[in-house]
Amino acid sequence: MTLAHPPRHETKRPCLSDYAPFVGHRLIEEINLLGQRLAGRVIQNVNSTRDGGGVAEILRRMVPLMQQLGIDAQWSVIDGDQEFFRATKKIHNAIHGKAEDISSKEFSLLLGPCQGKPEEFLCGDVIMVHDPQPVSLVSKRIDHGEKWVWRCHIDMSDPPMDVWSFIQEFAIQYDAAVFSAPSFARNLPIPEYFIAPSIDPLSAKNTQLPEHVVDSVLTKYCIPRDKPIITQVSRFDHLKDPIGVIEAFEVVRSDVDCRLVLAGGAASDDPESKELLEKVKERAMHNADIHVLSLPPESDLEINAVQTASTVILQKSLREGFGLTISEAMWKRKPVVASAVGGILLQVRHDFNGVLCHDIPGAAKAVKQLLNNPDYARQLGDNGREHVRQNFLITRHLRDYLSLFSSLLQ
Ligand code: UDP
Repeated sequence: MTLAHPPRHETKRPCLSDYAPFVGHRLIEEINLLGQRLAGRVIQNVNSTRDGGGVAEILRRMVPLMQQLGIDAQWSVIDGDQEFFRATKKIHNAIHGKAEDISSKEFSLLLGPCQGKPEEFLCGDVIMVHDPQPVSLVSKRIDHGEKWVWRCHIDMSDPPMDVWSFIQEFAIQYDAAVFSAPSFARNLPIPEYFIAPSIDPLSAKNTQLPEHVVDSVLTKYCIPRDKPIITQVSRFDHLKDPIGVIEAFEVVRSDVDCRLVLAGGAASDDPESKELLEKVKERAMHNADIHVLSLPPESDLEINAVQTASTVILQKSLREGFGLTISEAMWKRKPVVASAVGGILLQVRHDFNGVLCHDIPGAAKAVKQLLNNPDYARQLGDNGREHVRQNFLITRHLRDYLSLFSSLLQ
């Protein structure tokens, strides 16, 4: 395992009190009190990628905030070769409903993170292991009184039985499990907690950008702002259905003049993304109104600018853990059209702060409706902003984590 990068992009990190204008002083005081109780404690996070995907996005913001409170928060990333990540991706796909034939050799690869000397990284008062890839690390617990938490970000309600029995063997060795919502959980003989993910309103990805910065990013990527822009921001993963997005766009484009931006990158724990990106580029090649952006990891400002310049944000996932991109869009007061799957249902209230869709024609119809009805789109966007402010900002998430650690360590 290796230590993850510190957060990037910022010369000056926000202080906790900088969040008060969004969430009020009471929540900040509550966090400070919880922080005092946990000062000096070591909270170790372990996941499978330092770049790409929502888990890394959250850890990059959460760890420094905990450190500011005097907590010794750390973040380590498991090492793995292509073979390991191919196996973990197969397991990830299987959990999300794809028919995968996983051999016993592939299951045994999941024990990889336990090899070498992971113990060096596994000291702490709380060890929070994120998602199935490193789940087996718990078998290395030394039991000096540290608490082990399995933080599962994906919908685990209906995995294939062979996959679940493999994961369960380790999951039950933890002291507690955290899921994003009760509907994602499984019945485990350990305490289970429900904590939704969050976005950071003060990150380069979500802070309000001056118009000239938005313009310059769009110019850099040769995206004229001459007509409405529909955007999906996602890793190139078949579960995000980028080809479906193009098909929906083509239906919209036959009626309304507009552009599509598909902005995404790869996660280092996903060996499939390159191939999919090539397919997407090929599919989009002959349409000058489709802009496919393959972004490097440090593109928060660029993603912010593209989201800000968009008229409608689409998230046509086939399955979704949480879908931080939805909260990111809503925070920017953008109307969203999103598939009625997974964590999207925690965020989008149909016809109130977004539109839920079930297929390509449904997505196209909803996008057209929003393009043709700016007042309705504005209302959804305003409701979305408030919904995120109340439920999905990092301060609420931090408070929930600190409460959990505090009760586990009592
Ligand atoms: N993201 C990014 N670069 C990309 C694609 C996505 O920074 O090229 C970010 C996106 O803005 C969001 C996170 O990665 O913050 C993706 O989280 P989400 O929960 O939407 O999906 P996941 O990738 O975890 O399935």
